[in-house]
Formats: sequence, structure tokens, C-alpha cells
Amino acid sequence: MSRIGFIGLGVMGTPMAAHLAAAGHEVSGFDLNADALAKLEAAGGRAAKDVADAVSGAEVVITMLPNHPQVEQVVLAPGGVLDTIAPGTLLADMSTIRPETSIEVAKAGAAKGIRVLDAPVSGGQAGAEQAALSIMVGGDEADFAAAKPVFDTLGKTVVHVGPHGAGQVVKAANQLVVGGTYALVAEAIVLLEASGVDAGTGLDVLAGGLAGSRILELKRKSMVARQFEPGFRIDLHHKDMGIALAAARQSDVALPLTGLVAQLVAAGRAMGYGSLDHSALLKVVEELSGRSSEEV
Ligand code: NAD
Repeated sequence: MSRIGFIGLGVMGTPMAAHLAAAGHEVSGFDLNADALAKLEAAGGRAAKDVADAVSGAEVVITMLPNHPQVEQVVLAPGGVLDTIAPGTLLADMSTIRPETSIEVAKAGAAKGIRVLDAPVSGGQAGAEQAALSIMVGGDEADFAAAKPVFDTLGKTVVHVGPHGAGQVVKAANQLVVGGTYALVAEAIVLLEASGVDAGTGLDVLAGGLAGSRILELKRKSMVARQFEPGFRIDLHHKDMGIALAAARQSDVALPLTGLVAQLVAAGRAMGYGSLDHSALLKVVEELSGRSSEEV
């Protein structure tokens, strides 16, 4: 069992840190939010007073932060993770951020003998709570092998996908598929309802056929019921669509559907839905047709 420093105890980090503590690891965590620290203590972890306190003496450090500016602040800034942890320590950034920041963190870590992995996740809040995440890992093979027992406590599909930054590229691909699927499920609901066909019944059939997907399986009922409590916020998906489009530009490829879905997500944010679950793309698609329905 390892001493683990865990920074970022939000929707995802809280259940992840709890699973690590339940598995017998000694978990010290830090978050800016005091409620999150109380939840960590209730789960058997130690609430640290700051980043340095959380990661001091750790063998493994995990960060689960919103975006690259927070990762830069927590990991790279003076007094941050890289200034505090010892050479040989494993640092797994499990946040979804742009690949270039993951590469920058890996280089800065290597200069201090710290082993860095980018290890973003998919599976949402339910995946974190059930320790059933998919974890896509970029970095050195030997470091992946060393970190795998810890990742196995958090996820069911744990795969080394390539060098530093590759985990983030796979996550960008994941997010464009997720965003596009939500947009199409939203269009299906609008079509069914506007045609006077029961959307719940219609989607039940879709879920059992070739159109079936994890999103239809897990979210069709809450979408039809207009329950948009996050989950995964539109604001975070907006960030991820930006990462996907920037990665496409970097690689000189055109992703036209990703561009369109990115605009729908941006519209959701502009309409004031940024703090709703990304399934609230349904509200955007409805409003394009002059339809709106209250949450029930
Ligand atoms: P969240 O906003 O719920 O949690 C982030 C936490 O980081 C917050 O509790 C915040 O207080 C903390 N934080 C921010 N700056 C900090 C700092 N300087 N020091 C310490 N703590 C700080 O976000 P989340 O939903 O848990 O997502 C975290 C990451 O995982 C994001 O990159 C997101 O894109 C990704 N992700 C989320 C989901 C999901 O379903 N929510 C699924 C897959 C991946």
C-alpha cells in the first residue's frame, strides 16, 4: 500500500480518493473547498492544509483538477507538487487538459527525477463512484506498470495508450464522440416529441438496436425527464471540445462534426446552461426549433 497525495476533490476526485482509502492506501488530500476535505476525512483520508502538506512524503501523487491553469498552479508553480515531492515519486495527472500541458509537466518532472503520467478518465461520476472508470494513460511504459495497481483501484479499463500527452489525445477523441452522441440523442428526442411519439418508448427501442450506446443506456430516462443535475457540466465539456479542436488543428486534420458540436456546446454555455449536465444539450437543440420544456 502506498502513501498517496490527492489534489482536487470534486465530483470525480472525492469518490476516487475514497476508493483509494478504502483499498488501504494512506491518502492525504487537498481541495480549496472545505466540504470536500470533510468528505475525504469521512472516507478515511487525511485533510491536508495545503498542496505541499498533502503531497509531502507521498509515493504517488494524483491530481484531478478542472483544467490546465489549475494543473499549472498546483503542479508547476513555486511551492507546488514538483517543488515538494522527492525524485522517483509517481505523479499521475488524471484531469482532462490540453496535451501540450501534459508534455510540459512531464518535462518539468523529468528534470527533477519525477515520473509523470497523463491519465485522464472516462465514465463520469457513476464510473468514479463505482470504481469503473476507463483510464487512458500517456507516459513511459515502466511508469505505467508501476502506477497500474493504483489505477486498477479506480477503473476497470486501464490502458497505456502512448507517450506523454497521448492519454489526453485519446480523451479528446472520447469527448468528441460523447458530445456528438448527446447532440444526436437530443435531436432524436425533439423529433419524436414533435411527431407526437412517446420519446421514452422510442428511445427504449433505439437502445436495443444498432443505435444503442452507453449514453442511451444511462441517460435516456433523465434526458426525457429533463433532469440535468451534473454529472459532467456543460462548462467542462466546452473546455474539452476546445481541446479536441486545438488537437485537430495541431495535427492538420478537419473534424467538421466536432466543430458543429463544439458550437452547440458553446451555445448551451451562452444560454446560461454551463453548470447543467452536458445532457442539457437537449435544451439547445429544442430551442433551435423554438421548443422548450421545463424540467420535471
Ligand atoms: P470539479 O470542478 O467537481 O472538481 C475539481 C476540484 O478541484 C474542485 O473541488 C475544486 O475546488 C478543486 N480545485 C480547483 N483548483 C484547485 C487548487 N488550486 N487547489 C486545490 N483544489 C483545487 O470537477 P470534476 O467534475 O471532478 O472534474 C475534474 C476533472 O476530471 C476535469 O478535468 C474534468 O474534465 C474531468 N472529468 C470529469 C468527469 C465528470 O463526469 N465530472 C468525467 C471525466 C473526466
